[in-house]
Amino acid sequence: MTPVKKNEVYTMDITGMTHEGQGVGRIDNYTVFVDGALQGEKVEIKIIKVNKNYGVGKLLKIIEVSKDRVDPFCASYKRCGGCSLQHMSYEATLKFKTDVVKESIKRIGKLEDVVVHDAIGMEVPQNYRNKAQYPVGRYKDGVRVGFFAKRSHEIIDCPKCVIQYSKGDLIKSIVKDYICENGISTYDETTGEGLVRHIMTRFGFKTGEIMVVLVINGRSIPGQGKLVEKLVKEVPEIKSIVLNVNTKRTNVILGEENIVLYGNESITDYIGGDVNGFKFNISPQSFFQVNPVQTEVLYNKALEYAGLTGNETVFDLYCGIGTISLFLSKKAKKVYGVEVVEAAIKDAKENARINGVENVEFIVGEAEEVIPQMYRKGIRADVVVVDPPRKGCDEEVLKTLVDMAPDRIVYVSCNPSTLARDLKYLAEGGFCVREVQPVDMFPWTSHVECVTLMSRL
Ligand code: SAH
Repeated sequence: MTPVKKNEVYTMDITGMTHEGQGVGRIDNYTVFVDGALQGEKVEIKIIKVNKNYGVGKLLKIIEVSKDRVDPFCASYKRCGGCSLQHMSYEATLKFKTDVVKESIKRIGKLEDVVVHDAIGMEVPQNYRNKAQYPVGRYKDGVRVGFFAKRSHEIIDCPKCVIQYSKGDLIKSIVKDYICENGISTYDETTGEGLVRHIMTRFGFKTGEIMVVLVINGRSIPGQGKLVEKLVKEVPEIKSIVLNVNTKRTNVILGEENIVLYGNESITDYIGGDVNGFKFNISPQSFFQVNPVQTEVLYNKALEYAGLTGNETVFDLYCGIGTISLFLSKKAKKVYGVEVVEAAIKDAKENARINGVENVEFIVGEAEEVIPQMYRKGIRADVVVVDPPRKGCDEEVLKTLVDMAPDRIVYVSCNPSTLARDLKYLAEGGFCVREVQPVDMFPWTSHVECVTLMSRL
């Protein structure tokens, strides 16, 4: 028997927060999660879900308010699934993220006394994203273009998104008006019919160049020339307009084929200084970090932790389009970048070429295959940088690092739990965790990125 009943109202103390930013408390020792409640608050809730080991409560009233609580700045915050921490002050979100990292390292990593610095936040934590992907759909109240609601595929029409670069809203509304005025059909996930699926835009922070990608279930939009004319006239920074063909019934946003309607198939941007930084060509499909300001903070920290003098051989595992490899190449003798996506390696090679970097070699393959092979061939790294996806490093990679025993490992992670698990493995294999620096790459969401320095004991 659970001590709570569905649809009943209770008063409870919020004693902690989950990694996703939900408030947590107990009613008669039974755990209840409450969206929108903050640690230290006393709240009135209605139980909306009862499971064997935990329940979910809907916040009805805040009886004692946390000093960290602020009014969300976005009108769509309550429903939109994009942000989850706008009811906290920015300072408090940074502390929350630092604490998530500390707690993971202690609880999962079983590592005591690790130096975890305070998360580095943004001076202006708004308009930071350089890429927006707006789903398009038709509802009883008309066409909606915006974001998916929390834990759902219902589209919330979000006219102004404060975390996106500012021109994104204008582009979205021009396309939306065009769809409405010309009776263009929109894609319906349940039937697989209808034309316009997503609007994607990308923005080069340093160059000011904008790309608009219209993802469609077909090969053309009726009267598309007029839409192109309108977009370019109202937003002259647009340097590329692309139709992306996606006729598959899938949640994957982009299809494989691009049809250029205006300008080039890519835009350019720079990381690490203005035009004297590294130049990157960004096509619709390219992976590119979404917060370019904090990316520089993150990469500079990785470079600092790598401690290069110019004589080192460096591995950059999970290198994507080679951004970190290029950063490291300035101060290393040789950098090997390893990445599983072939198209990303093609971009990486092109990026090295346009930046005149010659001491970098890129290899396609799974890190867990490539690294043991290289090690067997006698190629050893002095410094290894890893930047794996959320699931962390494959054990084979960690095992090889322990055998190879580089002087330093710099671990860039977007998931504190798998970071902590992998640090534990490496610590047991003879590395010491020197310091961890969280960086706020995604303000107002619960995500946190970290750079960690490990070196031999
Ligand atoms: N370091 C890059 C990208 C990091 S994202 C940057 O900062 O831009 C993680 C990358 O790991 C993705 O590009 C993904 O394609 C790649 N990846 C995922 N699994 C992999 C594996 N088993 N081996 C090598 N690369 C992998």
